[in-house]
Amino acid sequence: MSKREFQTEVSQLLQLIIHSLYSHPEIFLRELISNSSDALDKLRHLTLTDDAYKTLPFDPRIDLELDEENKTLTIADTGIGMNEEDLIAHLGTIARSGTKNFLAQLSGDARKDSNLIGQFGVGFYSAFMVADRVEVISRKAGEEQAWRWVSDGKSGFDIEAAERSVAGTTVLLHLNEEGRQYANSWRLQEIVKKYSNHIAFPIFLTYDKSEWNEAEKKSEKIRTTEQVNAASALWRRSKNELKEDDYKEFYKSITGDSEDPLFWFHTKAEGSLEYTTLFYVPSKAPFDLYQSEYRTGVKLYVKRVFIMDDAKELLPQYLRFVRGVIDSEDLPLNVSREILQQNRVLTSIRTASVKKILSELKNIAANQPEQYLKFVAEYNRPLKEGLYSDFANRETLLDLIRFKSTKVEGLTSLADVKSRMKEGQKSIYYITGGAESLLRTSPLLEIYKKKGMEVLILDDEIDEIVFSGVDKYDDIELKAVNKSSTNEDLKDEAEPDKTEALKPLIDKLKISLGDRVKEVRASVRLADSPSCIVTDEEEPSIKMQQMLRAMGQ
Ligand code: ADP
Ligand code: MG
Repeated sequence: MSKREFQTEVSQLLQLIIHSLYSHPEIFLRELISNSSDALDKLRHLTLTDDAYKTLPFDPRIDLELDEENKTLTIADTGIGMNEEDLIAHLGTIARSGTKNFLAQLSGDARKDSNLIGQFGVGFYSAFMVADRVEVISRKAGEEQAWRWVSDGKSGFDIEAAERSVAGTTVLLHLNEEGRQYANSWRLQEIVKKYSNHIAFPIFLTYDKSEWNEAEKKSEKIRTTEQVNAASALWRRSKNELKEDDYKEFYKSITGDSEDPLFWFHTKAEGSLEYTTLFYVPSKAPFDLYQSEYRTGVKLYVKRVFIMDDAKELLPQYLRFVRGVIDSEDLPLNVSREILQQNRVLTSIRTASVKKILSELKNIAANQPEQYLKFVAEYNRPLKEGLYSDFANRETLLDLIRFKSTKVEGLTSLADVKSRMKEGQKSIYYITGGAESLLRTSPLLEIYKKKGMEVLILDDEIDEIVFSGVDKYDDIELKAVNKSSTNEDLKDEAEPDKTEALKPLIDKLKISLGDRVKEVRASVRLADSPSCIVTDEEEPSIKMQQMLRAMGQ
């Protein structure tokens, strides 16, 4: 047996892990399972690509074995395994220079900041959060000799020759005080389902299951082995391998929704960044869509390992109704929420995902209009929110949003409105500021009706705010009819200017209205009604003024 000391950085790391990361000790299982999954991935790759390994048996599986009495838990795999050299190199030093540099930077109080520590993968050493003694018995694929690595996570480790019948690695944890809670089959199953359900290899749990013995009228413990995970990272499979029902079933399993989704978009990106996304649009808007405490429904995975859900930074807020999975090859396993906000990899994935979702929606609008109407019925409003917050995609959003109008029944798109514009018409007009029935009968619309011009009826309460910030669709200006300077299209050369003739009346009105109005003018916008109220182009509309006043502004 040979005794070895940990590299200084490993000792530092262990200190940090044991003293600062204890808020989520359950992640040890995620880390160990992910190592096993990596080891299986590596061996699978070799058996597929390297002649020396092609003939080796490959029965990929991960086995968790619980001994409640002795408080031990083992995690065993049939992966690539490690020989003596590997054990010393991988489980005693920190190879990645990034981690070393990071550790060197941490000093004083920063050491206690577990958010900072979350920036690097704690990996194998997280086992020492729950165990006071860890044994690793490993045999490298293609070699006969196995090795045992043992450590208490304090000073160093011992290494000696051992036996193992097949290639692979067994990690044996002697659970400490903190770790005792994991000597529980129910808890283990829960953690595996939570973090590792879609690891591509089967994960089995062997434990003493209580079963009722009818003959003896008592329950007895029976050693049982059950598969715990679903073992299919559905989103990693190729599109042509998957049936509609596979997608629907998976949707239901991740959302708990009993209805089928409206659409899904499955994308695999390769190149400078590698990732897979599978997004779903629920057929009914989530109940909390308009609540400030809404939950998002996109889960983040790194290499098929679950990292977190309800991360609001994965997609912009206006797409909060989207459900699904983002699985990245390039993010570290231990990426924290804090890091996500400024992570370049995630920013790129997010930007591309938004583009993808919006362009797919555009396709549906063009090719499946009936389905698209179902979508609009639920999600027109969140898309409008996007106009307000996502300037980069404003053009696309304007194409996706649907409108009520004076010209057509039901809903219409801006592209259609544009195609119906009258010859010489310069702008597209809309009216806001009240309920639909009120807007439709507004005297402000009279002249537009008379001239055969279409006006959009924007009766959604957020329209006022959102559309006051949108001044163009394509190259055409969007104008509110209840603002004063929208007359350009209404001027009629044939009609004489009545300002002079009306001057006495206007003067009287100015006197009697006093400073309740800014201006009284002869208007070209009225056809049958004698007068109407409009607001200055530069000022908030009447409805908005009321809202601002109500908010104490
Ligand atoms: P990481 O997985 O990020 O490389 P870890 O601390 O989790 O960091 O693991 C360190 C290294 O130990 C791995 O890169 C791998 O080489 C080796 N290792 C850990 N667990 C296993 C295992 N079950 N089978 C084979 N190698 C393993
Ligand atoms: Mg790891």
